[in-house]
Amino acid sequence: MRVGILGGGQLGWMTILEGRKLGFEFFVLNEDPKAPACRIADACFTPDEVDTFLRNCDVVTYEFEHIEQEVVEKVSHLLSPSAEVLRLKSSRILEKSFYRKMGYPTAEFTFAKGEDLYKKLAEFGLPAVVKAEKLGYDGKGQYVVKNLSQADEISKNHPKDENFLVERFVDFLFEFSLIGVRSKRGDIKVYPMTVNHHEKGILLYNHTKSLYLKEAQDILTSLMEDLNIVGLLAVEFFYCQNGKVLINEIAPRPHNTGHYTLDGCYTSQFENLLRAIADLPLGSTNLKLPSGMINLLGVSLEDIDLRSLLSIEGTKLYWYGKEKRKRRKMGHINVVASTEEELTEKINIILRLVSPEVISL
Ligand code: AMP
Repeated sequence: MRVGILGGGQLGWMTILEGRKLGFEFFVLNEDPKAPACRIADACFTPDEVDTFLRNCDVVTYEFEHIEQEVVEKVSHLLSPSAEVLRLKSSRILEKSFYRKMGYPTAEFTFAKGEDLYKKLAEFGLPAVVKAEKLGYDGKGQYVVKNLSQADEISKNHPKDENFLVERFVDFLFEFSLIGVRSKRGDIKVYPMTVNHHEKGILLYNHTKSLYLKEAQDILTSLMEDLNIVGLLAVEFFYCQNGKVLINEIAPRPHNTGHYTLDGCYTSQFENLLRAIADLPLGSTNLKLPSGMINLLGVSLEDIDLRSLLSIEGTKLYWYGKEKRKRRKMGHINVVASTEEELTEKINIILRLVSPEVISL
């Protein structure tokens, strides 16, 4: 099977690492030939070379959602999940409107143009979260608004014609995600839920928790069916004070909160993506042991005490080999433990080692 991947980041890198075991070949479409997935692919092409890239592929998937429309159109006949799903992810406004239309639970929201952000926020009420319509991920283009005076500053940071999603600020008890995989034949398997901890909009760490939330499971399953997903779908949720769950957003690709599956589950999210798009039977998503993941943000290998980290039983290092930048996801640590209590202890120790300012869960 010859698999094309749009995007060259760490998600593609881990997909290739896992896919080598299945004997698959990989072709990556990405501007920078030094990107993690490009370094280990059979060949890497720039977006100008999309026609040559396509000639190498039996199927194409993506590890990044913000792909040029021209490229999407050229590869759409081989693309899994589909181009329609990608279109939904091209705009936070389209995405949230889809949930509203289909009756899925989300935080209350409205839209605003830059020039009337102040007025819209005044009508909507505070606190609110303002999110730029396009290119938002890892908390980029996102603002928690507690005071109307912030509106002008936000508008100033963005082009005049920028549209914004304005959401009610959710005072959640915790954030969690569910990742599912769906095959061409419509078989679905769901990974265990993880509780996710963010720092300024970016995932710092997450861990499995033996909690079964039926409502969230049903939402994930029916979203996969509504969107006719062949591949992975991750859904990020808020668990509210009143016990209700709200969708924050979805990702139709391998997800950062599923990295633990490489060591914690019988089949990783990456392998199951490949099985789904290659029309092979899906692998077990069962958990072997309580598992967690800690992102290594904005550090170099020299900055971290690798000897101490790897001497904790059950830890594994994944280093993506990217150029260091502030807050950038440079690698991650997976960790397994025999009990959830032991997992919490290990995560606390790892957090202290990699991020001294974060001292407790
Ligand atoms: P997003 O880029 O939409 O995934 O948001 C990143 C993070 O910002 C989320 O994981 C939450 O921690 C926080 N966040 C986003 N939207 C809201 C909201 N409406 N209320 C409270 N926190 C939010």
